[in-house]
Amino acid sequence: MHPDSTNRAVPALRMSRQRRAILDALRGARSHPTADEVYALVRRRLPRLSLGTVYRNLEILAQRGLIRDLKLGGAPRRFDGITEPHYHLRCLRCGRLEDAPLRPIAAIEQAARRLRTYAILGHELEFVGLCPQCKTERPPALKNARHRARKGK
Ligand SMILES: [Zn+2]
Ligand SMILES: [Zn+2]
Repeated sequence: MHPDSTNRAVPALRMSRQRRAILDALRGARSHPTADEVYALVRRRLPRLSLGTVYRNLEILAQRGLIRDLKLGGAPRRFDGITEPHYHLRCLRCGRLEDAPLRPIAAIEQAARRLRTYAILGHELEFVGLCPQCKTERPPALKNARHRARKGK
């Protein structure tokens, strides 16, 4: 046995004041902020913080599994302070991204594992639609369609 394989504990991540503040901001925000939004949040506490530092630290925190780098969620890229598996709801009009109050479906992952092609590590799911605010407004696409229909032929 290779001597390293018995005790391969990853050294604890050093928590600078900036890194800690970035992690706290993400855990406190329920909005799944972008790097720019994290920067704006943390700068209130640490005015000398640079955007580059925020990007670098988000990368490191995501690699270490302390935050999630959301692969879904549209562009620009967003981050999540909650690392436990959960689904998201995304508004196609205003871009809002929220946690869905649904329990992750184990059966879907078990089914994927039975395919035996990939080593399945997890799954992500995002529901898209209109948020409570946006669904009460008339969709612009519909207005245009009606306008065209009136003018039509
Ligand atoms: Zn919306
Ligand atoms: Zn989330």
